[in-house]
Amino acid sequence: MSTPEGRLRALIFDFDGTLAELNIDFAAMRQTVEALARDRGFAGPWPAAGYLLEQVAEVSARLGNGYGRQALELIEAVELEAAARGRLFAFTRPLLVQAQQAGLAVAIISRNCGPAIRRVFPDIERHCGVFAPREAVPRVKPDPGHPLTALAALGVGPEAAVLIGDHPVDIQTARAAGCRAVGVASGRVDRAGLLAAGADLALNDAANLLEALASRGWLGSRLAFSDQIEPPKQPGRG
Ligand SMILES: [Mg+2]
Repeated sequence: MSTPEGRLRALIFDFDGTLAELNIDFAAMRQTVEALARDRGFAGPWPAAGYLLEQVAEVSARLGNGYGRQALELIEAVELEAAARGRLFAFTRPLLVQAQQAGLAVAIISRNCGPAIRRVFPDIERHCGVFAPREAVPRVKPDPGHPLTALAALGVGPEAAVLIGDHPVDIQTARAAGCRAVGVASGRVDRAGLLAAGADLALNDAANLLEALASRGWLGSRLAFSDQIEPPKQPGRG
């Protein structure tokens, strides 16, 4: 799918590694949920495909008896613990304010759970039109339904949106949804890795995102973020 050009109307941000530093120990998380499954009599190899949430869903379909719910509780405990040590990047609040002042709708989507994200960013809902952590959607990224649900709530089509994330899964999700993709190297993957995954742009971090989008010609002809006088318009906000 070729990259749409033209003016953007919405920014969809990933959270962990993009707007905040959250060092979740995924290996420990995986060991914990696998140990629970073995304890419940799960035999054979652990599923190789997908990420941990998808693997847990697969094991849960075979084990039943509340395994999935218990495994999710363990995952959430690890996420909450990581959030207690996490921090929002210094540029995050100013960036989100600047974007909304420039008339761009903003969504934040994550495979992380809402309570962990709110622990790092308690005022998140005041900084975006749509907040969609994993419990807010039926299927999380890489399912394109995750950003598309957020965009539907914002009233913006995917061709006028960009997804900004720190992981190849974000780039893959953006492509599948028909959005533009910006990679940021503030997480675990470098710029080369993000470009190799198909990102249109790869930045060190999202601090100068709006300037980068403007130089690409994606914010229209004017420097929307430097001469803004109107209040932000946010469909979907009360
Ligand atoms: Mg991330």
